[in-house]
Formats: sequence, C-alpha cells, structure tokens
Amino acid sequence: MKVVYLDNNATTMVSAEVLEEMMPYFHMYYGNPSSMHAFGGQVGRKIQEAREKTAAFLGASPEEIIFTSCGTESDNAAIRSAVSTNPEKRHIVTSRVEHPAIKALCANLATQGYRVTELPVDKNGLLDMDQYEKSLTPDTAIVSLMWANNETGVIFPVETAARIARERNILFHTDAVQAAGKLPINMTHNAIDMLSLSGHKLHAPKGIGVLYIRRGTKFTPFMIGGHQEKGRRGGTENTPSIIGLGRACELAAKNMSAEMTKVKLLRDKLETALLSRIKSSRVNGDIQNRLPNTTNISFEFVEGEGILLLLDEHGICASSGSACTSGSLQPSHVLRAMGVPFTMAHGSIRLSLSIYNTESEIDFVIEKLPPIIDRLRSMSPYWHSGQEICTVQ
Ligand code: PLP
Repeated sequence: MKVVYLDNNATTMVSAEVLEEMMPYFHMYYGNPSSMHAFGGQVGRKIQEAREKTAAFLGASPEEIIFTSCGTESDNAAIRSAVSTNPEKRHIVTSRVEHPAIKALCANLATQGYRVTELPVDKNGLLDMDQYEKSLTPDTAIVSLMWANNETGVIFPVETAARIARERNILFHTDAVQAAGKLPINMTHNAIDMLSLSGHKLHAPKGIGVLYIRRGTKFTPFMIGGHQEKGRRGGTENTPSIIGLGRACELAAKNMSAEMTKVKLLRDKLETALLSRIKSSRVNGDIQNRLPNTTNISFEFVEGEGILLLLDEHGICASSGSACTSGSLQPSHVLRAMGVPFTMAHGSIRLSLSIYNTESEIDFVIEKLPPIIDRLRSMSPYWHSGQEICTVQ
C-alpha cells in the first residue's frame, strides 16, 4: 500500500541529497574529527563546512553553532545554562503550549525551587504581549518561547518578545524546531540569545540538533566531557548526521521560499476542501500566523484516535491532538490551553505536509477523510443526539 505521509511535524524523510552527502562518512571517511592524523582531519574540515552552512542558514557565525543530539537536548542545554549562569535569579517565563522538552524541564526546575510563569494563550493560540511584559521581573533568568507550535503551527512573535527581554537584560531562548526550514530565520537582526533546532524536522536525520548561542552569551555546558564543540558539548561528533544537517540547511536556505509557497497551496486546498465537505469541523489556531505546512482540524463528536486508525487503513499518516494518559484520552495541553471545546478537542487531527507531498495525495485524502468522519459519526450516539460526550473537568 502506498503511504501518504502527512505527519511531517513529527519527523521528515531524509532527502536524497542529504543522504548522499552523509554516506561516505559512515564507511569511507570514518576517522575521528579530533585526531591528529590527516585521515581524521579531513572529517574535521567537513564538520567545519557543515557548521558554516548551518550558520549561513541562520544568519549566524560558525562559532555560534553547537551541534547536539536533538532538539530536546538543545532546549535543555539552553535553559539549564541560563539558570546556572544566573544563580541569583530564580524565575523562568515560558508559555502553556511549549513542547515537553521545555514544559517538562520547567516543571522539573519548579520542584527545585524555581518559579515558572507559563503564559496563557487566547482561543487562537496567540500570546498576550502586555501580559508577557508584565511577567518579566528582575528575578527572571530566562524567557523561553517557541517560534512555532508543533501541534497547531501557530507562530509566536519571538523577535518582538526577545527585544523586550533584551531591554530588561533578560536572556531569551526560542525553540525553533518547527520553524526552521518553514520560516525565514535571520539571527543578525534579532535579540534572541539562544535558539534550538532539530535535524529530523528538516529532512536531515534523527539524532542531530543545534543550539545557537549568540556570541558573548555566558554558557555552561550540559554535556561535560571532551573538548569537542570548543568545550561546550562533550562527546565524539555524530559526523555523518552533522554533515547531513549542514546539507539540509544549505538546501533549505536555497529552496525554502519556493517550496513553502507550494506546500501552503496544498495545505490550503486540503483544509478548504475538508471544511466545506465535513460539517461541524473547524481549524484550531490563528489562520494568519501559522506555519505554511500545518493544519490542525477538529471534527465534532468523533475521536481523533478513531480517525487516525481509519486513515491508517488507507496508508494515510497523521497525528491526533489527544494523548493517552492514565488510560483515558485527554485532549492535548495545547488545545486545552486554547480553550478548544471538549467535543471539538477530542476529534482533532494534525495534518502536516512537506515538499514531498503531491496534489494527487491531497486529492486522495480529500476523497477518503469525509466518509471516515461520516462512518464514525454514524456510530456515535452523541452525534445523533447533539449531546456533549462528557463535561470538562
Ligand atoms: N520542540 C518542538 C517544538 C518539537 O516539535 C520537538 C519534536 O517534536 C522537539 C522540540 C524535540 O525535538 P527532538 O525530537 O529532536 O528532541
């Protein structure tokens, strides 16, 4: 069965160009980049080339790039460094809709006596900037706000937020894991001190991430070990993946604008068709401030998990906005923070596209999804009676 992959915010396919660039570094050029001999040295130079490509993609300098193992490590390294380099400050500002890489870390720091402000969002998933400003205090060690949300695609005005933090001498970190490769990022003209990205969201492999640290920002390493990454991240480099990420950044820098225009057209076609063919459906998240590849749609009175299972029978890959916690399906923390009505939040799915999706795949989903919703609703007593499934707790 052919797979129609619409789950690109979960992970992406490694592109053929990226794979080709990586292959020799598994088998032919396997030297340790730190070795004194020429065999290792050539690998070290290739890593430096990848660092330059990654830096160019971000509008940064190569020394500002640290290669890590993933987005989660980059997020953890940024926050932990900020609190340890500012030991007198005990307050962290973040939002209610962050990825667990930030949310769970902040919850953990709260158990160690840090005060964490999780800023709310409105029904469209947007921040109230007045409230943000008011949350900043002389005790704030760091602000961490995501550039774009993984579930809804909603974009936060992180450059404005970073400027406000800079005026108060507060460090600013952004989780740009979903933004990178979909939105232009240029660190030359903003006040963001630290930024995380992850290779597997932009057609590079899993297990490689980046932490950008602005020159002059104090940093204490998370991974302590050898002298790699100028002593800022110990551990022998994941050479093929770093080289792959460099190539992915180079390709994104060149092609992103044209590719995302095409992706947005497909996403809009899909969304418009589903909304018009399926009654009691809606899009979650601000329509204007959104990633071009993402749509989070709710279909009232059905279970998102049920939709995913039936889509899977047709080879269509998507995600739902529910998480199975303690045996019951809870709508995601993002949809709950937005106050999406319970009956809608339960029936939400995320469809996230990439440049590898085709118009015929989108037509296929438009053909298959409406009867799936009809079928699930025909089995739902709540759809017929119009009652709520249960009350919000
Ligand atoms: N931040 C965001 C917004 C994400 O979407 C993800 C992954 O889904 C991460 C962080 C974690 O990245 P990684 O899987 O590389 O650890």
